[in-house]
Amino acid sequence: MSKPGLMPVEDALDQLLAMADEQRLPDSESVPLNEARGRVLASDLLATLDLPPWPNSAMDGYALNLADLHRQPLSVSQRVYAGLAPDALLSSGTCARIFTGAPLPMGANCVEMQENVEVLEDGRVRFLQPLKVGQNIRAQGQENRVGDTLLRAGKRLSPFELAVVAGQGMTHLPVVRRPRVALLSTGDELVEPGQPLRPGSIYNSNRTLLDHWLRELGCEVIDAGILPDRPAQTRLKLEQLQVAADLILTTGGVSAGDADCLGQVLRDNGKPLLWKLAIKPGKPLTVGHFGTVPVIGLPGNPTSALVTFGLLARPYLLRIQGVEEVMPLSFTANAGFDWPKPGSRREYLRVRLEGGQAALYPNQSSGVLLGATWADGLVEIPENSTLRVGDPLRFIPFSELF
Ligand code: AMP
Ligand code: MG
Repeated sequence: MSKPGLMPVEDALDQLLAMADEQRLPDSESVPLNEARGRVLASDLLATLDLPPWPNSAMDGYALNLADLHRQPLSVSQRVYAGLAPDALLSSGTCARIFTGAPLPMGANCVEMQENVEVLEDGRVRFLQPLKVGQNIRAQGQENRVGDTLLRAGKRLSPFELAVVAGQGMTHLPVVRRPRVALLSTGDELVEPGQPLRPGSIYNSNRTLLDHWLRELGCEVIDAGILPDRPAQTRLKLEQLQVAADLILTTGGVSAGDADCLGQVLRDNGKPLLWKLAIKPGKPLTVGHFGTVPVIGLPGNPTSALVTFGLLARPYLLRIQGVEEVMPLSFTANAGFDWPKPGSRREYLRVRLEGGQAALYPNQSSGVLLGATWADGLVEIPENSTLRVGDPLRFIPFSELF
């Protein structure tokens, strides 16, 4: 049970994904392979080629027909290198010198690796080990046949998928258009890097964190700058941004303080959906609509922004692009620390894996960003629980969140 009045993390996630399902981006575009990394495939990709296109050798060695084996030693009647045209006929009673990736001569049904072959002084070849039909041959179409579905719509494109597409000889592929995300930092105290720091001000680090992360997730970022803590300006800004953006992503101004305008404006002038989650850090996360545009209001503390973006906004952004599996892979790690005091919110801690155990970054304050650079990922402490060293915990590697 979470604290009364606070929404459990999984409920918030369900609501965000339901919202995303209603906002899936319908348009796609064709992009060259070298710009497709991190984008989402818009339609199923069918093979236009058998792979391999013809049977070929998996080894450097000798190709023969096993029916000729009783006539060994065999003379070598041809040399087949990778890149030669397939289908040269193997003369009966001979073998072919062959190299990895070279087309198998017609008539051959076996390849023996060169290490298991004795080459006599006269150049003939003796096979030293028992042989089998099909040995060391990559059959035509063993990977895929023309017309096979290679990749499904909704697949996020990593170098693996792009290499598969390249292997089919394609140069372009259809991807869902980039979500246009207006990125807005709120706070009177914020100054962009490169500008002089005024008394009482701090540099805007959230913008850099989220700008890069959004691009990793295939988004186009509309830099909406820094917004002062003023309700009228906040309304005006959201009105302007809703025209161009698929999502307005903000940081700061969502707690319950006097200067927390973003949340106030969303509740007073928009349609609020979520506020106050049973999560630590990140409790003030605010989600809703302003006009017709969804707004995700992340808390301003850098680690709160990081945790809520990674665990809640990221799945939303993937789902509007059509990705089904939006949750990061996680695995069980053992606590390298005691956790004697149960909390009413689900807590995410920055940890490093050391000797099979999750070690805590010493300062877990939500204002401290440096812990994320030290850590390998997050561990999840469930609500109302205590832990002893060695207890199992869910570990989410940071690498899974990009
Ligand atoms: P808020 O959520 O607006 O109450 O901000 C919480 C804390 O996060 C305050 O200490 C802010 O100064 C800090 N903060 C807010 N926005 C940013 C930002 N863009 N970069 C770095 N720190 C921020
Ligand atoms: Mg603020």
